[in-house]
Amino acid sequence: MSERHQNLAIIGHVDHGKSTLVGRLLYETGSVPEHVIEQHREEAEEKGKGGFEFAYVMDNLAEERERGVTIDIAHQEFSTDEYDFTIVDCPGHRDFVKNMITGASQADNAVLVVAADDGVAPQTQEHVFLARTLGIDELIIGINKMDVVDYKEDTYDDVVEEVTQLLKQVQFNTDDASFIPISAFEGDNIAEASDNTSWYDGEILLEALNDLPEPEPPTDASLRLPIQDVYTISGIGTVPVGRIETGVMNIGDNVSFQPSDVGGEVKTIEMHHEEVPKAEPGDNVGFNVRGIGKDDIRRGDVCGPADDPPKVAETFQAQIVVMQHPSVITAGYTPVFHAHTSQVACTIESIDKKMDPASGEVAEENPDFIQSGDAAVVTIRPQKPLSIEPSSEIPELGSFAIRDMGQTIAAGKVLSVDEK
Ligand code: GDP
Repeated sequence: MSERHQNLAIIGHVDHGKSTLVGRLLYETGSVPEHVIEQHREEAEEKGKGGFEFAYVMDNLAEERERGVTIDIAHQEFSTDEYDFTIVDCPGHRDFVKNMITGASQADNAVLVVAADDGVAPQTQEHVFLARTLGIDELIIGINKMDVVDYKEDTYDDVVEEVTQLLKQVQFNTDDASFIPISAFEGDNIAEASDNTSWYDGEILLEALNDLPEPEPPTDASLRLPIQDVYTISGIGTVPVGRIETGVMNIGDNVSFQPSDVGGEVKTIEMHHEEVPKAEPGDNVGFNVRGIGKDDIRRGDVCGPADDPPKVAETFQAQIVVMQHPSVITAGYTPVFHAHTSQVACTIESIDKKMDPASGEVAEENPDFIQSGDAAVVTIRPQKPLSIEPSSEIPELGSFAIRDMGQTIAAGKVLSVDEK
């Protein structure tokens, strides 16, 4: 166990081996109990599929996740010599992209999985694009399924070259990226250097994970706790629940809920079914505030100190990146914005600047439209009150996803907020 913590995202195209890699990491770091592994091994052998235990382990974990009805977001944990890792954004999750942007826990670093037999694929591009937009610090690139390409160095080199071009396109500093030939399935270069890739003398995956830069310490921003749900519990009363993104909540604090614009004194705080005197960033809490009834507050409210309440935007300016839109986006477009626990229809009131994604410079002032692949600065007007913060002040509450037609069409960061 380590004192230091990392939120790690595992990104990459579907079927390139993200889940298998997570299973392998949990296994190699002793995070899956041996008896569970053993059980799956037996099951796999019975079915004549020796060596398939990781697939079974992952199925099992997925099932547990489905059953677990908790206020915790689904996550898996493992420890290396240097860090305790939490895998955020369970791979394969339908709302993966959305979570990556608005997820309660944002990733500090990421492992990009690229299958050696397939190379860069559409979601590889999409995830790299997002990782860059959302300020993931460092990427480890696992060129996976090396067993499928007979551990050939040429194939590895070709895929490395392809990914390097992609990283350059989105201005990722390739000096900060480490490439590793792996097989999540066979376990090559995960916990031990593999004889199958004798031509490779770089770091193996666990070493690269240990060498990740330490995440920025949490900001000293004041309390921000997006409300996930509001319950009525007999004997206590109204209990909002959510995860503390920044700051600290103490019993006795005077708090304010925005945009509902009500407040009061914190009477009790509960975590893991126990009362606690205070709670910190990352804690999932239920709490009770004097005088607040069930109908006074709702999901999407943000709780903060009464003397530094969460901002409520009349309009806000943001930088967005359009990932996929069948046609063009023009001023007046009103899709649903997902920010922290809130979902609000917002109108893109004006498209102020189109940016050149390669150079980051302004490519066009006041363009008539933007489309897939474009980055732009836009002014946004929420159709209902929305609490949101400039990303420079509180990054945890400064990003959002734009959804329409059942998919994420864009992601963005808040540049500034004009309050009511
Ligand atoms: P995900 O969609 O990215 O999470 O991919 P999965 O982890 O579900 O893997 C997709 C398929 O590829 C599964 O059938 C895995 O067993 C297989 N797979 C994953 N990693 C490897 C690998 O290193 N070698 C081989 N041969 N197959 C792999």
